[in-house]
Amino acid sequence: MTSIFTKIINREIPSEIVYETNDIIVIKDINPKAKIHLLIIPKKEIETIDHLEEDDRDLIANMFFVAKKVSSDLWITWWYKLHFNVWKAGWQEVMHLHLHLLSNM
Ligand code: AMP
Repeated sequence: MTSIFTKIINREIPSEIVYETNDIIVIKDINPKAKIHLLIIPKKEIETIDHLEEDDRDLIANMFFVAKKVSSDLWITWWYKLHFNVWKAGWQEVMHLHLHLLSNM
């Protein structure tokens, strides 16, 4: 089943896109838990951290470098946190891997 994030990536449903590369998209969270709440999403549909494969190493590294770039663009380099929720018991609602970036600056 196509995830809601894949639909956003394919422009089938709207979203506020902040940044995009060949393999990653960054959007504003629709229900922000902080003044700035972004989602860093690989275009490849990986369900959870638990589903990562060896071939995903570069992709995951790229997600952190995108976090660095976006935080720098937003001038919040020193004031943010990153987190993954993992599986439903670990607060993950959307089963398409994503890294939360939150800041109250
Ligand atoms: P998680 O609980 O880690 O799976 O986080 C999923 C996040 O996706 C939540 O913070 C939601 O508010 C957010 N979200 C769900 N649907 C959308 C959407 N269409 N556009 C932007 N963010 C969304």
